[in-house]
Amino acid sequence: MSARAGKPVKSKAAMPGLAGAKRIVVKIGSALLVDEASGEVRRDWLDALADDIADCRRAGQEILIVSSGAIAVGRRQLGLTARNQRLEDKQAAAATGQIKLAHAYQESLARHGITVSQILLTLEDTEARRRHLNARGTLTSLLKLGAVPVINENDTVATEEIRYGDNDRLAARVAQMASADLLVLLSDIDGLYTGDPRSEKNVEHVPLVTAITADIEAMAAAAAPGYSSGGMVTKLAAAKIAYAAGCAMAITDGTAHHPLRAMRDGARCTWFQPERAPLTARKRWIAGAINPAGSLTIDDGARAALARGKSLLPAGVVSLAGDFKRGDAVVVRDANSREIARGLVAYNAEDAARIIGHKSGEIEKRLGFRGRDEMIHRDDLVMGLDGSD
Ligand code: GLU
Repeated sequence: MSARAGKPVKSKAAMPGLAGAKRIVVKIGSALLVDEASGEVRRDWLDALADDIADCRRAGQEILIVSSGAIAVGRRQLGLTARNQRLEDKQAAAATGQIKLAHAYQESLARHGITVSQILLTLEDTEARRRHLNARGTLTSLLKLGAVPVINENDTVATEEIRYGDNDRLAARVAQMASADLLVLLSDIDGLYTGDPRSEKNVEHVPLVTAITADIEAMAAAAAPGYSSGGMVTKLAAAKIAYAAGCAMAITDGTAHHPLRAMRDGARCTWFQPERAPLTARKRWIAGAINPAGSLTIDDGARAALARGKSLLPAGVVSLAGDFKRGDAVVVRDANSREIARGLVAYNAEDAARIIGHKSGEIEKRLGFRGRDEMIHRDDLVMGLDGSD
């Protein structure tokens, strides 16, 4: 059944590993870090992870941590329960829990003389290009100074409309931002299966994924909700961002102590290894856009032109959706509604609607000004976001 895993699994020799990576983002979910009964950080588990991180650093690897847990810890401290799901409750819980979380990391890593620095990001910090570059600068300086950044979403100021909500995608965006070469998602399961291993028989573990195909998406959808904190669906969304960044990703079981050591010793994981060459930094940022502002559906001729590396012209666009502005990231779909590319659009939605289906030479007449000839210039366009070329 593993032949269904997109592309055939390669020989073990071709499998990536922890040891070869230089800069690693480790994502830690609340279910691993926070004891459900007491609502406290599981310090014995964290101390063991800190030992692993110290081992990595001794081997010359740089580590960044993306940690959940603020809401789970804070909720308990404020006397809230899992039923208190209002935004205000989550914001209050995060404000309270984040301090405890940061202290726990500080103390655990201090046992190895490692300095921890906290970064709380909002969606805007990664999605607005200028702020993205600013946050990237901070991460780079911290790594240069030898600190371990501990990153979480700034849940206290995030609102439902403008938040990540899951740290899988945040971690992938951080990996792209920091030019990491490996993203490790510590989960409560050792990777992706062809179905749900808890309820189905004859399901197989998928050791390597080289492209996010429709089959792979179906496997993720089959995984039971809640089986791992963000679910498999957000993990695949993370894999797409990582692919575009040329960054490998691994899902591994973090429930036992020393999960990174186990990986180094060959523990079973699902590896996501892109086959394509990495994109330029700017294209990686475009490809990883979390909330594209709209979409353009194009005809087969335009699709073929894009595949040859051409720009998207207004004439090839059949329809559009969303209230995007000039310069926003939009999704490009083919006639079957399948996402084939992303790019920065050169016109706002209103102007775009007036020129789609028309030759570039008619733009001035239709809009009253002479804009760009292209709807999306090829420098602003990224194809093959599923990991294929
Ligand atoms: N940022 C949230 C927290 O710290 C967790 C999001 C997630 O679990 O993915 O509690």
